[in-house]
Amino acid sequence: MISTKSHYSGLPLRPWRRVFVYHFEIKRYNNIGTVESTHLLQTGGKRQRSHCDMFEQNVPLKQLSHYKIGGDARYFFEAKNVDDLIKAIKKQRQLETPLFILAGATNVLINDKGFDGLILKIQNSKINPLTGGQNEIIKAEAGTLMSDLVNFAIENNLSGLEWASGLPGTLGGAIRGNAGAFGGEIKDVVEEVVSLDISQKIPKIIKRKAEDCDFEYRSSIFKKNPQKEIIVEATLKLRKGDKKEIEERTNQNINYRLSNHPMEYPSLGSTFKNVLISQINNNISINQLLNQRKSALIIKNDPLPVIPAAFLISEAGLKGISVGGAQISPKHPNFIVNVSNATGDDVENLIQIVKNEVRKKFEIELKEEIERI
Ligand SMILES: Cc1cc2nc3c(=O)[nH]c(=O)nc-3n(C[C@H](O)[C@H](O)[C@H](O)COP(=O)(O)OP(=O)(O)OC[C@H]3O[C@@H](n4cnc5c(N)ncnc54)[C@H](O)[C@@H]3O)c2cc1C
Repeated sequence: MISTKSHYSGLPLRPWRRVFVYHFEIKRYNNIGTVESTHLLQTGGKRQRSHCDMFEQNVPLKQLSHYKIGGDARYFFEAKNVDDLIKAIKKQRQLETPLFILAGATNVLINDKGFDGLILKIQNSKINPLTGGQNEIIKAEAGTLMSDLVNFAIENNLSGLEWASGLPGTLGGAIRGNAGAFGGEIKDVVEEVVSLDISQKIPKIIKRKAEDCDFEYRSSIFKKNPQKEIIVEATLKLRKGDKKEIEERTNQNINYRLSNHPMEYPSLGSTFKNVLISQINNNISINQLLNQRKSALIIKNDPLPVIPAAFLISEAGLKGISVGGAQISPKHPNFIVNVSNATGDDVENLIQIVKNEVRKKFEIELKEEIERI
C-alpha cells in the first residue's frame, strides 16, 4: 500500500496530495481473489487480467507522480523487500518487458504515453538504529522517505540531516542523485550502500563503502549505471546533538523552502542543474554579466561554486511564461510548475524553450536535473 505520509517533513498534506493518498488507498478484491485497485476504475476497466497475475496492469502513473503528470504503466509492482525485487525481476525477464525503478517519483517526468514495461516501485521503509555513543549509526531501507529520516533524527537528537528538511522523495532516490540542499549532500552522511545488481543473469547483493559510490555533484555510481542496480538500504552516520538546535535548523530550512519555492503547485523541484563556475570560466557573456552585477550575490555554493540555473532563466526573460498548464515559476524560475493539468508535452516544450533561450543569450547548455520515463 502506498504510504500516507507527506514527502515533506513537517509540512501539512496539500489538497492534491490528499487526493493522491485517497486514490491509492482504496483496494477491493475481484471475484477471482486478486487485488483490483482503483487504478482499474480510473482507466475505465481498460486493465486486462492476462498471463501475468503478479503485476498490476495499465496503472495510471499520473496520481503516483509528484508532478501529477504521466500516462499508464503497462505493468506495475511494489517491492517491499529483496525477495520481492528478485521475483519481480525474474518475471520482468520472462515477459521480456523494459524495466524502470521508481521510488518517490519526485524527480521523474513521466511522458503522456506512459511506460510500456514494468514500473518497479521501491516500497521498503524500515529505519533501524545500530549503535549508541558519540557517533550514531543508523540503517535505513531505500524506500524510506527523507522526511521520515529527518523526523527520526530530530526525535533521537541526531544531527547531520538538517539540510534535508523539506527534501521530498526517498533515501534511495537521494543516494542515486546525491541529493543536496543548504550546503549539505546525502554523501556527507552515507557510510555504506547495499544494492541489488540486476545486470547479470543472477541478481547479487553488493555492499559499497561511501568512497566507492563515486559521489559527485548530483551523481553517484548508481546514476552512472542507470537501472543496473537497485539500492536496497544504506548505513548513515549521524552525530549526537541538541534537539532544540537540530529542530531550529530543520525549521529554518523548511521555512526557506516555503517562502522561496512554489510549494503550492506540483513540481519536480529544480528542472536544470546549476552551472559549475569551473566550467564557464572563459564565458565572456557570463563574465560581463557578473561584472555588471554583484557576483557575490549571484554565485551560490551548492556546495561547489555555481551560477544558479534560476538566475540564467530569469535573465533570459523567461520567468512566468507558460505552455498549456505548465509554467516557469515566477517565484523560482528553475521550477516548472504544473499550474493546471499540465501534460508531459507542455513541460517538454517549456524545457526546450529554456534551453534554446539560455544557449542563445549565454552560450550555456543547461542540463536537466530531472529524469524522464
Ligand atoms: C519540491 C521539490 C524540491 C526538491 N528539492 C530538491 C533539493 O533541494 N535537492 C535535490 O537534490 N533534489 C531536490 N528535489 C528532487 C528530488 O526530490 C530528489 O532528486 C529525490 O532524491 C528523488 O528521490 P525519489 O525517491 O523521488 O526518486 P524518483 O524520482 O522516484 O527516482 C529518481 C531516479 O532515481 C532512481 N531510483 C530511485 N530509487 C532508487 C533505488 N532504490 N535504486 C536505484 N535507483 C533508484 C529512479 O530510477 C530514477 O532514475 C526536489 C523535488 C521537488 C519536487
